[in-house]
Order: sequence, then structure tokens, then C-alpha cells
Amino acid sequence: MTTRLLITTVGSRLIEHADELTRLDQAIGDGDHGVNMRRGFEAVLADLDAIAAKPLNEALKQVGMTLVMKVGGASGPLYGTLFSEIGKALGDEVTPATVAAAVDAAIQKVKARGKSDIGQKTMLDVLVPVQAAIAAGNLGAIRTAAADAAAATVPMKAIRGRASFLGDRSIGHMDPGARSSQLIVESVLDVVEGRA
Ligand code: ADP
Ligand code: MG
Repeated sequence: MTTRLLITTVGSRLIEHADELTRLDQAIGDGDHGVNMRRGFEAVLADLDAIAAKPLNEALKQVGMTLVMKVGGASGPLYGTLFSEIGKALGDEVTPATVAAAVDAAIQKVKARGKSDIGQKTMLDVLVPVQAAIAAGNLGAIRTAAADAAAATVPMKAIRGRASFLGDRSIGHMDPGARSSQLIVESVLDVVEGRA
């Protein structure tokens, strides 16, 4: 698995789905999630040669820093934290166990930064069950876990982020950040499974 293929696959997947992410954010937010993710990952892809020359952990730290700098809104610092902290926690050895531990460490930092937890209709509602599937060694279940988890945000009432301003009116729509997290997970799996 090359770092270059991983980053181009994740970045291009989010850019391809920017309009969908924006439509989701139009329903329960301010309609910029697709624009935010596209801006962030276009900046990452513009720096691809430098990023891909690094070991995976260093590359992830660089991706995180770029997202913090280029993406406004809530998702920039939160996804920036996620990528940077996975990079910081991941050593040279990349196995399901080391990835599970690194993603867990990163999720704790995202929770702290967002003052958020699962059940609040955010990206965490996808990231946490995906981490659990990796930690359980249940790698074949990750794709379905991510899809089910994103779909499960539809009936939730938002407790964090802009969508929480809508109260009960946030119910009935998928959380945009849950969907972008699902897209990231799916594109990583495509690379790991040799489908990208
Ligand atoms: P903004 O809400 O500032 O416009 P985006 O639209 O880019 O930023 O991102 C919105 C997404 O960020 C939400 O759908 C949600 O998944 C995620 N999010 C927002 N606030 C939080 C938080 N406190 N903790 C975790 N995730 C959050
Ligand atoms: Mg928004």
C-alpha cells in the first residue's frame, strides 16, 4: 500500500462527493461541508509529491496540518486532529492492531477538541464503530459498519455542531461529517483491498 495511492484515493473520493456533502450540510447546517473538504483535499493533493515522499505516519501528520490550515469551520480542526493524531500515534509498524490503537488515540483527541461523543450526530458516530471493528480484527465488517453507522445518524437529533441549532428539525437527515467519514473509510478499504 503506497502512501501516494492512499492519499490520492481518499482525496479524490471526497472531491468527487463534494456536491453530495454540501447538499447534506444544506439540510442541517450552512451548506459548506463539501466545499470545505474539497478545499482541504485539493491543498493536500497539490502537495502530494512532498507528502508521499514521507513515511505513512509523517504523511498523515502533514495531511492533518494542511486540513487545519485550509479548511474552515468545525470540520477542519476536527479532521486535522484526526489525521495528525493518527500519524503521531502510529509508529513504523502498520498492522490492524497498531492502526486500531492509533485511530483510538486520535478519536479521543477529536472528542476532546469537539467536546463531543458518540450519539450526538457527528463524524464520531462513524469513526467509533469503525475503530471498534478494526480493534476486533473484524476487517471484513468495516465497510458495512461504516455504511450502517452513517445511516444511523439519520434518525438522531444533533447535539453538537451547527446542526444542533435546529434541535428536533435535525432529525431525518444524514450528518454530513458522518458521510464524509464513511467516504474516507471506504476509500482506505479500496486501497487496502487492492480495488483502488
Ligand atoms: P461547520 O459546521 O463549521 O460548517 P462543516 O460543515 O465543514 O463545518 O462540518 C460539519 C460536520 O462537522 C458535522 O456534520 C459534524 O459531523 C462535524 N462536527 C461539527 N461539530 C462537531 C463536534 N463538536 N464534534 C465532532 N464533530 C463535529
Ligand atoms: Mg457546514
